[in-house]
Amino acid sequence: MNFCPRCAAALETQTLNELPRRVCPACGYIYWNNPLPVAGAAVIDGAGRILLARRGVEPRLGLWNLPSGYLEFGESIEEAAVREVREETGLEVVLNGFLLSAGAGHRLWPWSSVTFSFFYARPIGGLLRAGDDADQVRFFDPVDLPGQIAFPAHEKALAQWQRDRVRGRGEAWGVGPDVG
Ligand SMILES: [Zn+2]
Repeated sequence: MNFCPRCAAALETQTLNELPRRVCPACGYIYWNNPLPVAGAAVIDGAGRILLARRGVEPRLGLWNLPSGYLEFGESIEEAAVREVREETGLEVVLNGFLLSAGAGHRLWPWSSVTFSFFYARPIGGLLRAGDDADQVRFFDPVDLPGQIAFPAHEKALAQWQRDRVRGRGEAWGVGPDVG
């Protein structure tokens, strides 16, 4: 962020509460850059495979990621996760556990500051079909995942899924309890 949204003066970087912030020297405005929430889902089918979507748009065009997206006004993170799966993959899911949250982006740049919340989910209907930002969707076996994942936060979620599988966590195998 380069200019003050309140008075249009040039912002400068100052350290406040031990972190760098963009601050307006003219009017005192502080850009805290609190992250936006992003909801995502690890949809696991009855064979223990995970649903990934291939990005049909920039950034990271052609790379695979978990279905995810920004919240609409008034939505809960859980509602957004279910909706994003529906829009990107055509499947109806029920959430059945929390997977992991992960922050991402650059501290000083508002357009990339987000915190992902990933949930486990189980398909309950719909028809698998790529939509929205995705141009391909399919389930992947855990030993046959794509070599490159679109975003580091999604890599973290996949790594946590693998650890949960080793631990025998039911949701990670597609057999967890429904709570969502
Ligand atoms: Zn200002």
